[in-house]
Amino acid sequence: MLNKTRFKIIDLYSKTNVHEVFDNCINEEYLSRNELLDLQFMKLRKLLIRAYQTTKYYKKLFDEIGFIPHRIHDFNDINIIPIQTKQNIKNNFENIKSFDFNNYEPRKNRTSGSTGEPFEIYISRLTHTYLRALNYAAWHQSGYKLGDQYASFSGGSLLPGSIGLKQKIYMKLQNCIQLPSYHLGKEYFLKYLRILQTKQTKYIYGYASALSDFSKEIKDNNLDFRFVKGLFSSSDMLYPAQRKLIEEVIGTKITDIYGNPESGLISYECNEHSGYHYGMLNSYVEITDEAGKNLEQGNQGKVVVTSLNSECFPIIRYDNGDIASMTNENCSCGRGLIKLTNLGGRSRDYVILRNGQHIHGAFFNHLSSIYKANWLNRYHIIQNNQDELIFQCLVNRKPTEEELNSIKNEIKTGTGNLIRIETQIVDDIPVTKMGKYKLISREFDTN
Ligand SMILES: [Zn+2]
Repeated sequence: MLNKTRFKIIDLYSKTNVHEVFDNCINEEYLSRNELLDLQFMKLRKLLIRAYQTTKYYKKLFDEIGFIPHRIHDFNDINIIPIQTKQNIKNNFENIKSFDFNNYEPRKNRTSGSTGEPFEIYISRLTHTYLRALNYAAWHQSGYKLGDQYASFSGGSLLPGSIGLKQKIYMKLQNCIQLPSYHLGKEYFLKYLRILQTKQTKYIYGYASALSDFSKEIKDNNLDFRFVKGLFSSSDMLYPAQRKLIEEVIGTKITDIYGNPESGLISYECNEHSGYHYGMLNSYVEITDEAGKNLEQGNQGKVVVTSLNSECFPIIRYDNGDIASMTNENCSCGRGLIKLTNLGGRSRDYVILRNGQHIHGAFFNHLSSIYKANWLNRYHIIQNNQDELIFQCLVNRKPTEEELNSIKNEIKTGTGNLIRIETQIVDDIPVTKMGKYKLISREFDTN
């Protein structure tokens, strides 16, 4: 009861309706596949009709390709719509907003995900609500109830050791012990572990790389963390060796979560750990080849997402930069939600400073000199040694000295002036063997 009230207050504060939508998410997981597909199709059709009727961009696009949204009969009918890239969305930003944009309480979502491509997008109140509710639905499998205390090894502030007041209030309301993890160093590890032990925190959420670092510390200090009932990782690739170490040391299974907030996509493992069930009533996912043609199930390809509840800023057939495959097979956990499998290329890695601190890739996504740089198409960070970072830029136009310096300065300040930053304008940023862009390439290891 107390938790319910707490969550109503959180919803008021963060302008969401999680306490209402959460129960729906839990119930919808177990609808039959056909029921889910019917509901998903109805939402998709409604979104396409609305996009056509209320936005300049989709009206023009659909007219040009001869696509008539209210005539669609099945999912395949939308394959005619070209894949939307971040560049398309940037170029047509104002025309993607619906005429009644403000009625949906949109908020900006800033990202460059794991690919180093700075990007801003609007998401509606409902999408934002679903993103949170689905995340909690994943946690619910370990017994978590809305309002329960948890710890978060993620995010933080852009300056080491400081968190803004707004975030502090939000975390307090959430019953969240935030352990800022953009900057991780030895001195933080033990301090954080002591906090968790004192509070006997049952649920822990964090970047896979941060959870792995902490597990090493728990092991080295021979600490007992068997009070933990749920471990949830996200934002990073969770490598098998990391998973093994974390689960062995803490003594509970990890639920890995894969999401792409700008497209409303949240997916999570169930107890079978054989893929990620995705929230089918907040997004529609296709796996396609380079040309946008749907691949047979089981084949790895581009993750193309349509955000079903972002009616004020429709994101339709959006290439989110990740790769995965999909399976239509039923899962023995009983959930009707389709599963994504073979996720690839979520690795953001981290930069290592001379004092041993790890700077998580997500840190760079939140620097305003980077996400506001309209001249910057994509970036890539190379660290060859502990003393220097090379910030490579693929550009739309030549940046001014001042623009480059503002990036250098913001990184310098945020990393405690411990590293030299060099900027480089390049003609190309190579992709990995998996066909993915990497945010950070580090040429040496910690030990
Ligand atoms: Zn399952």
